[in-house]
Amino acid sequence: MASPVYVTQPFLPPLEELQPLLEEIWRSRRLTNGGPFHERLERALCDYLGVKHISLFANGTLGLVTALQSLRITGEVITTPFSFVATAHALLWNGIRPVFVDIHPESLNLDPEQVEAAITPLTTAILPVHVYGRPCDTSALQSIADRYGLRLIYDAAHAFAVEDEGGSVLRHGDLSVLSFHATKVFTTFEGGAIVSRDPQAKRRIDFLKNFGFTDEVTVVAPGINGKLNELQAAVGLVQLGHVDTALERRAAVDEAYRCGLEDVGGIRCLGRPKSRRHNYSYFPILVDAEFPIGRDALYEHLRSSGIFARRYFYPLITDFPMYRSLPSADKARLPVAAQVASQVLCLPIYPDMSEEETSRIVAVISAVAVR
Ligand SMILES: *Cc1c(COP(=O)(O)O)cnc(C)c1O
Repeated sequence: MASPVYVTQPFLPPLEELQPLLEEIWRSRRLTNGGPFHERLERALCDYLGVKHISLFANGTLGLVTALQSLRITGEVITTPFSFVATAHALLWNGIRPVFVDIHPESLNLDPEQVEAAITPLTTAILPVHVYGRPCDTSALQSIADRYGLRLIYDAAHAFAVEDEGGSVLRHGDLSVLSFHATKVFTTFEGGAIVSRDPQAKRRIDFLKNFGFTDEVTVVAPGINGKLNELQAAVGLVQLGHVDTALERRAAVDEAYRCGLEDVGGIRCLGRPKSRRHNYSYFPILVDAEFPIGRDALYEHLRSSGIFARRYFYPLITDFPMYRSLPSADKARLPVAAQVASQVLCLPIYPDMSEEETSRIVAVISAVAVR
């Protein structure tokens, strides 16, 4: 039997490239607290992504929690149920009440029209997600934020290197939060970052991620330990040199799936993203009613063939016990998200995926379609 294929596999740079950086760390004995590699990675990421300010974090979730802290967000925040659970958890960790709003059927991102209807006097911010790296309707969301005086913070965990006509999607809103987890397109094993627009915002974020210290003896806020260490920053620096290759190879897998699945009845690929640059971080398909078996049956069938697809995002965040009793978690108010969560399946996609693997997955799905 063919070897198992997982939904993703990290793209690691040659170990020889990391070796000299490790030796430098061993020589300098600077292990963390904003050392030279941390500084170099922040600068290199600003250049690569085309953004002004970046603050590295130990992971994306701490980035989200700190982003909300840095803007002193309270009360209610409007967000999407169709995301990884960390999006909403970051709100609860700040004592904020999430208000869930349905997604748009094509973008699968927060539907701006419904955002406006969910605003109350307690609303202070909007927390949208660029799901699968496909950009939100950033101009509609910004105009709502401006009209109602709300902050706009993007969970951009999927949106590394994504660009629209004006440049990086990370420039939108007040802050954008990235994740560098092992499953993401750019990884430092664990890691994350906040992209900010001005030096004051970055300064506040930087002291919040270091317990609130502004100098050796001054603590100005109840900060957290969100720091990324030198070892991981070095991994990131080396990794960054290979991101373009990784994205090219992901694009090829995406194309192969689109061609292979085009004529498979009952399987729907999402439309090609309109972004100027896409990162092919996920390959979601929707299993329609006309497909001979349901989504869960297809998921199990693939598993039994050694193909480990994932149902991102099922269950919805609003199905989890700490959210489901909120009025906004009512399924009747979230018909699109509920429908998509029941139909979506993310197929394996990663830079080292072979043509044979892609073809085998297409063949397994096609065989079900015609039986
Ligand atoms: C991965 C992810 C996160 C969390 O990032 P970590 O680095 O794993 O903490 C948050 N939101 C979304 C949408 C994610 O996919």
